[in-house]
Amino acid sequence: MVKLQGVWKIFPDGTKALKGIDLSIKEGEFVGLMGPSGSGKSTLLHIIGGLEKPTEGSVEVMGVRIDELSENQLALFRKGKIAYVFQFYYLLEDFSVLENLTLIGRLVGKENPEEEAIEILSMLRLSHRINHKPSQLSGGEQQRVAIGRAIISGAKLILADEPTGNVDWEEGKKIFKLFKEMNESKRITFVVATHNPELRGFFDRTVLLKDGKIVGEV
Ligand code: ADP
Ligand code: MG
Repeated sequence: MVKLQGVWKIFPDGTKALKGIDLSIKEGEFVGLMGPSGSGKSTLLHIIGGLEKPTEGSVEVMGVRIDELSENQLALFRKGKIAYVFQFYYLLEDFSVLENLTLIGRLVGKENPEEEAIEILSMLRLSHRINHKPSQLSGGEQQRVAIGRAIISGAKLILADEPTGNVDWEEGKKIFKLFKEMNESKRITFVVATHNPELRGFFDRTVLLKDGKIVGEV
């Protein structure tokens, strides 16, 4: 699913955010990315997802060398294949929960986006909230809507960056359980960055980052 070889990321100001990353992730894995703040977790997710290019090294996702694609090719490649879940939810505030999902469904060309959205929202235990606006929901509920959008996009690879950074422990655990359910029932591959060591039990495998390097796996 993902293969990085010798990946470096040096920002224009000279910051070496990644220093020679080699990483392989198989289809269907549920992988954690852990390390202190500033260790390069977000940068690594951006590079896996094609949001940023490596300064050096190769990045293969689903058999495609995405580091060699142009911006347009990348946008096309990502669509319906890769989705992100961020710490902040980035929902469309003027639209209902249901519309937040159907818009994405339509964008990726689903035939019955509304039917599918209703089904996904039920899976996310949000059936009672489908006509609410995002601002009327709790943080955890908003994050579940963001997850719903990732799922309706049809992505086979979901990259989540501190997805529970803004919710309490109980909500955080719910979100991780949902990820695990989606991972198992839909065989979606997950790469999740978190600095909360208590969530480690959820992962098949945890990659430890420090100062831009992989320093171990547990
Ligand atoms: P983490 O997600 O683990 O906290 P990041 O990947 O965000 O780490 O950052 C890794 C390092 O790269 C940090 O030193 C950070 O300050 C730096 N960094 C991140 N983005 C940029 C940028 N756009 N320009 C310069 N430095 C950056
Ligand atoms: Mg980060």
